[in-house]
Amino acid sequence: MASIATLGSHCSLQVLKGAKDEGLKTILVCETKRERLYKRFPFIDELIMVDSFKEVLGQKCQKTLEENNAVLIPHGTLVAQMSSEEIESIKTPVFGNKWILRWESDREMKEKLMREANLPMPKPVANPKDIERLSIVKRQGAAGGKGYFMAANEEDYNTKRNQLVSEGIISKEETLYIQEYAAGVLAYLTFFYSPLKEDLEFYGVDQRHESDIEGLGRIPAEQQIKSNKVPSFNVIGNSPLVLRESLLDEVYKMGESFVEAARRIVKPGMNGPFCIEGVYDENAKFTSFEFSARIVAGSNIYMDGSPYYSLLYNETMSMGKRIAREIKTATETNRLDKVTT
Ligand code: AMP
Repeated sequence: MASIATLGSHCSLQVLKGAKDEGLKTILVCETKRERLYKRFPFIDELIMVDSFKEVLGQKCQKTLEENNAVLIPHGTLVAQMSSEEIESIKTPVFGNKWILRWESDREMKEKLMREANLPMPKPVANPKDIERLSIVKRQGAAGGKGYFMAANEEDYNTKRNQLVSEGIISKEETLYIQEYAAGVLAYLTFFYSPLKEDLEFYGVDQRHESDIEGLGRIPAEQQIKSNKVPSFNVIGNSPLVLRESLLDEVYKMGESFVEAARRIVKPGMNGPFCIEGVYDENAKFTSFEFSARIVAGSNIYMDGSPYYSLLYNETMSMGKRIAREIKTATETNRLDKVTT
């Protein structure tokens, strides 16, 4: 039987608890500085101690993973800390599609896949001088919203960019990505596509809490105007959300369309968990600014099962457990190659 391995961060506790509940061996690649934290959790069978997560690419680490028939569960930390080339070079089987993670990290490829999936997106702005409406300026990769800023026009863009460069938050050479700001209710929609069942499941919705853009709303306008601090979008945590039931049909359609587009563009397609991230406007129209092609940390809210999964499963089912279930079924039926790359 396969064992389940992941990097010690992001959603590793949920992933490994889910794997343990499915009766699988659990392995955590753990940075020395976090050993004390992760030793608190009895469902982690083995720790592979490293000084840096990059060691997962090394022979020693890969050998231990191989000896344990491990499947590596990719999450946001893997995407944030390793280049696409590094991720693609991992010898251990990776759950889902490791090739699609490049499409998550690269802004242009990301836009292409979202367009292919017909997801309604905010208008991209090619050049700061073309900023006509309130826009958001983003960094490349899975930066978690840190160093992002809003700009109303070119002058505003230059002032804020220069300020962030002088504060050492972004580098002078960095190419930034600009898109129009979409106002509304934030909703991060998480799905699971099972290549074994050839079926899409809607898992749940969360909202991200980002600092210190959220803090701005708590101070009076008079102080907001006087402040010259550039607010950032650094994710601090997540909270649950359920949608109006009348929105669900559209949600499934978006998920299906994404799965179909991924199948056409990046083989073997969007297997496993993924998230479409965006906002609902005043007409309940969804605009998507982002996707994650793997488990998102927002799934941590539902370690005990999500509202939507309680409709599909007569047992508590976290995303971690759902992943482990898929791997277990694949192993039992000799189809591990269908769920890993
Ligand atoms: P991202 O890295 O694209 O997930 O963006 C990080 C955060 O920035 C999101 O969670 C949103 O709060 C915010 N954000 C990104 N793009 C937009 C947009 N076009 N309109 C409004 N908010 C956005």
